[in-house]
Amino acid sequence: GWERLQQDLRGIDGQQYGAYKRLLGKYEHASPSFTLSIDYVQGDPYASPSRVRAIMAWAKTGLPDEYLQSDIRRIALCDFTTRVCASLIRARHLDQNVGGGKSGWSGPKGGAFNINAPGQEILPRTSSLINADDEMELRFTTSLPAAGRTILGNEAHRILAVNLVELVKQSLLLVNLDEQKLQHHVQCAENQRNLRQQLAANDLVAFVANGSMLPRASGASATPMTGSNAVPFVSPGHLALTLPLADGTSITGMGLRRGITLLTGGGFHGKSTLLQALELGIYDHIPGDGRELIVTDPTAVKIRAEDGRSVTSLDITPYISTLPGNRNTKLFSTDDASGSTSMAANIQEALEAGCKSLLIDEDSSATNLLVRDQRMQTLIKHEPITPLVAQARALYREYGVSAVIVIGGLGDWLSVADEVIAMEDYVPRSLTTEAKKVVIDFPTHVMQASEYGTITPRKFQVNLNGRRSPYATRKRFIAMKPQAREAVNDPSQDEPGVDLGGLDQIVEIGQARTIAHIMQQVAAMTTSQPLSLNQIVSAMGNAVGIEHCLPSSLNDGELVAIRVSELAAALSRIRGITVTQ
Ligand code: ADP
Ligand code: MG
Repeated sequence: GWERLQQDLRGIDGQQYGAYKRLLGKYEHASPSFTLSIDYVQGDPYASPSRVRAIMAWAKTGLPDEYLQSDIRRIALCDFTTRVCASLIRARHLDQNVGGGKSGWSGPKGGAFNINAPGQEILPRTSSLINADDEMELRFTTSLPAAGRTILGNEAHRILAVNLVELVKQSLLLVNLDEQKLQHHVQCAENQRNLRQQLAANDLVAFVANGSMLPRASGASATPMTGSNAVPFVSPGHLALTLPLADGTSITGMGLRRGITLLTGGGFHGKSTLLQALELGIYDHIPGDGRELIVTDPTAVKIRAEDGRSVTSLDITPYISTLPGNRNTKLFSTDDASGSTSMAANIQEALEAGCKSLLIDEDSSATNLLVRDQRMQTLIKHEPITPLVAQARALYREYGVSAVIVIGGLGDWLSVADEVIAMEDYVPRSLTTEAKKVVIDFPTHVMQASEYGTITPRKFQVNLNGRRSPYATRKRFIAMKPQAREAVNDPSQDEPGVDLGGLDQIVEIGQARTIAHIMQQVAAMTTSQPLSLNQIVSAMGNAVGIEHCLPSSLNDGELVAIRVSELAAALSRIRGITVTQ
């Protein structure tokens, strides 16, 4: 019962910090009816914060059952409750800072109370979820308060027995929610999911609704650009099509057909901004984001050059035949890839993980992997690279893999494009007819591969080698520090970890945390035998949907769903991983 929590808190007031451990367990709150589960209690005031869950039976929330009826509704509802919680907590923290009064939720003596704060995407997160028993769960972290190492029982009572209860009331009970806003949030997600599902049947890679707002407030912000300078999206006439929405209305916008699409135009006219919107069109966006009716093939992968990355036992023969020193490119490994080899590796790994649409920006590419023009073909005889311009058609023809590529200055690409779209003052215009004429008027020899070559699936064996469990750091970096003290002092033992900085489709740090967790699971399941990606994914029984992975059985509230492609990309970047073909 709840009294036990109050007794326990009174009982440990003034004791040494370790006595907080006595709080571990479950407490029932009567009105509203929910269970407080204290799952992890930090060992000292400076350790990583304690973890608590509030669990409420579905019937007690008053929410209509229609929200349970599909995955996307559940996901959007939980995304909404996380946002309600996060903004309440933020508001209370601000009260504290502004007023300096006692109403705030973060005291000077600890007591900060947090929920994993979401960005612009609607994603399955463990901060709020509907569990297997159809209960709503909210998961928080809190640093339990202390003066020095002495427990502040009253403060802890305020956090767990007062503030948390208020938060649960405000975010889980329908009577306190803005029902219209919730309805709109869920409908918006459902529209996007449905629109994305229509892409394949319409032979599209992506759809960008007219009126979408693509640019962001700044290079450091994910919120939409506002003001009179922001130009809304308008489809070129012949690419415009109208698709039905799940809510019964319909929407007109630009349909990008499967095949090879060039996005071109002058510098600073919005090419990269459009491509970035397509990259994140794999996710649903919140209402008001500006990109909430931009959807992309859910398997689409942004490909970039990423020199310095490690590559293990990968077949990159479609792009690179032999390397100096007779290095085998059928089974290519390196600790320090070049621009072109890293880009070739990124393409091959994306294809291995099931990618059907490549998204490429020349700004972040290795030029020599994109193209080799006639003059260089004549001059350089021992070039091991077959550039993408020679492979793109074969890749589409044989494997059905499309490409959307931003090209401002490489005219050879005009020969292979199905569609050429120019951005002019942030508005797209079709230049396909003009481009065909240019190809005829300025003939040049563009090399074309007769066959794409092989995509060879691999098997992975992750060995943590006594390293500490992988964990995500702020800079999208998964650290794997050595376990033992001696190892820390031995620089040769230092483990550089996994750098996810090259994965542009990771949008929240919680996704890197999820990858770190899954990496540990993969290490456990591959100790005795290597497993393919498919085997790994099917062994992780708790995947949400087909394209996302999220371990929800752990009591961790800070995990965010990822796609299999990001998991695969992370595994492929582990230095020293054992890989076989
Ligand atoms: P490019 O890749 O063609 O050089 P970018 O996409 O990087 O151009 O865009 C250049 C600048 O224009 C960026 O600062 C971007 O925020 C801004 N921008 C892009 N699209 C729009 C738009 N629709 N309205 C207003 N500004 C935009
Ligand atoms: Mg650009």
